[in-house]
Amino acid sequence: MKDFIIVGAGLAGINFAETCRFNTKSFTVISDASHNSTLVAAGIYNPVILKRFSLPADTAKHMEYITPFYQSIENRIGLQFMHDVPVYRKFASAEEQNNWFEACDKTALAPFLDTEIKHIKYPALPSPYGFGRVYSTGYMDTGAFINAYCAELLSDGLFIEDTFDYSALQVVEDSVHYKDISAKHIVFAEGFGIHENPYFNYLPLDGTKGELLLIKAPDLQLDVIVNASIFILPMGNDYYKVGATYEWEDKTQEPTEAGKQELTEKLDELITCDYEIIEHFAGVRPTVKDRKPLIGTHPKHSRLHLLNGLGTRGVMLGPPMALELLESIEKGKEIPRAVNLNRFKV
Ligand SMILES: Cc1cc2nc3c(=O)[nH]c(=O)nc-3n(C[C@H](O)[C@H](O)[C@H](O)COP(=O)(O)OP(=O)(O)OC[C@H]3O[C@@H](n4cnc5c(N)ncnc54)[C@H](O)[C@@H]3O)c2cc1C
Repeated sequence: MKDFIIVGAGLAGINFAETCRFNTKSFTVISDASHNSTLVAAGIYNPVILKRFSLPADTAKHMEYITPFYQSIENRIGLQFMHDVPVYRKFASAEEQNNWFEACDKTALAPFLDTEIKHIKYPALPSPYGFGRVYSTGYMDTGAFINAYCAELLSDGLFIEDTFDYSALQVVEDSVHYKDISAKHIVFAEGFGIHENPYFNYLPLDGTKGELLLIKAPDLQLDVIVNASIFILPMGNDYYKVGATYEWEDKTQEPTEAGKQELTEKLDELITCDYEIIEHFAGVRPTVKDRKPLIGTHPKHSRLHLLNGLGTRGVMLGPPMALELLESIEKGKEIPRAVNLNRFKV
């Protein structure tokens, strides 16, 4: 009998699998490709929410945890998918500079914000008011990470590429049974696919669609992630990711003309050089109204668990939320109410 069946191979499911591996728990991952939030994500990690100059709870602790966590995977699979790149906030006015200085004075934010205004000249991105640098930032190449991780699982016989059939799940008191697999527990990590899950679809995971572009712009010459009305993320070889949109009504994964137009209009306001659109992506972020993850155990079925609601911050929240969940299942450690799915009633 396995310790865990894990449904979903995005950032939630894969980080849970890695946490199991590290804690010598056995598992099988079952996933299809019906949802793609992880695969289309820009993968940026940035401790500070620049729009509101806020630091979500436990951010400093989470940052300390994810660095060695992802590094150990990189070392094992022999692939660098984490890239340290500074985030530069572009100031649009003197008022924005002042807001930055005020934020620098806040004790919690101080370790992450550079007090000096950077007046770097990027020829194709004029910024008369300069930039503010955020520390401890970068991006994960999410596609490279997930593909390499799943290839390893496949070769170890730990991955089944299939749609999970909820009607084939048998839940008994001390175990779960799915087709020919028996396990002590099952962890659902289907992202926005939660809506098909009859056990957990009562939870208010609204989802926020996001679109982004991959462009080629040889004259842009950026070596930092620029954060303005949109972000511009340098991927190397003159390629950049540009995003992202936030759309609350449309829950499809199809890129739209409106999304493309919004991004190109904002990009045209920021940069002065030519660019070519290479690809256009869309996905639905698994967001909850209160902007907090959803983790924990089903109120009626003690063998069924959930790891979801990573929202806009899957790279930073995936590993610590996976650990919270595993420790709650294995050691009875209480999950903080702010992220516990039991804050919502059936
Ligand atoms: C445009 C965009 C940009 C983003 N940028 C960033 C960013 O810069 N930084 C950041 O940290 N986060 C970013 N995010 C958010 C990030 O992508 C999510 O927080 C995270 O990827 C969610 O991971 P997940 O595993 O919960 O969901 P998913 O990635 O959707 O994974 C769920 C998996 O479960 C599978 N699945 C679902 N139902 C079933 C079923 N019934 N049977 C089998 N398999 C199933 C799906 O096919 C999928 O493989 C962005 C998201 C979008 C859309």
